[in-house]
Amino acid sequence: MSDLRDLYQQMILDHNRNPRNYHELPNATKRVDGYNPLCGDHYTVFVELDGDVIKDVGFTGNGCAISKSSASVMTASVKGKRTEEAEKLFNTFHKLVTTGEPSELSEAELGRLAAFSGVSEFPARVKCATLAWHTLHSALQDEQELVTTE
Ligand code: ZN
Repeated sequence: MSDLRDLYQQMILDHNRNPRNYHELPNATKRVDGYNPLCGDHYTVFVELDGDVIKDVGFTGNGCAISKSSASVMTASVKGKRTEEAEKLFNTFHKLVTTGEPSELSEAELGRLAAFSGVSEFPARVKCATLAWHTLHSALQDEQELVTTE
């Protein structure tokens, strides 16, 4: 298990150093700010919807390594997916970081998300890991413009 743990840690560090989709979207149809006051993580998530398909997604902002790498993985995971699938993925990810259980996801689906299973051992970091997902959820639901984890 320790090899797997190292691999997960490297994946998180890599996404923190080189976040994917780390930019604004010129044609964004949704733009929502997310803030985690406990840690100081703050991000803006941009979504370009084409019907119910997430045509493009990006984010800007700053925070701890967990929050930034999670935002990066989130964008890479939901890009090109239908909003319904993205919401399902959020539910699964939320379960993963709160319980450490990979739940119903197949290994292939789980992919990068599994790197965050260790977060369940650090309850204070759950909000860091889920901030970008909560913000995406809000953007897709057309809810408020500012999301906070409090
Ligand atoms: Zn954080």
